[in-house]
Amino acid sequence: MSKYAAGKEVVSYCTKCKLSLGHTIVSMKDASTIGKVHCNTCKTTHVFKDPSQNTKKVKGTKTRARKKTLSVAELWTEQIGKAEGKAKDYTIRGNFDVGDLINHKKFGPGIVQAHIDDKVEILFQHEIKLLVHNK
Ligand SMILES: [Zn+2]
Repeated sequence: MSKYAAGKEVVSYCTKCKLSLGHTIVSMKDASTIGKVHCNTCKTTHVFKDPSQNTKKVKGTKTRARKKTLSVAELWTEQIGKAEGKAKDYTIRGNFDVGDLINHKKFGPGIVQAHIDDKVEILFQHEIKLLVHNK
């Protein structure tokens, strides 16, 4: 008998939370292979990832290198997910604070990262831009 079955709890690596967390088994591939799981933390359903296998990979240099170079899109997704409040429309006359959610006509939604001189560094989905503000 397998200890796994749909509806049972299992620890899986969550692709969204980037952590090993409690998941509920949604479907089984076969009697002993978990198919899909539902994250109890972020409520997304994804393919089961054995956390012990993931730990092995983390030790490798490949994963470590990848962590340092989190892509702009990944950073953006993470920050958009955390951002609260309503997006402000970007204008050159606007005054933006670090952490503000902004909406740019051309680049779309972004999050203010830092003030650099009279500019703001804004993280957009595909690139980080320095834009003038407070004019
Ligand atoms: Zn999750």
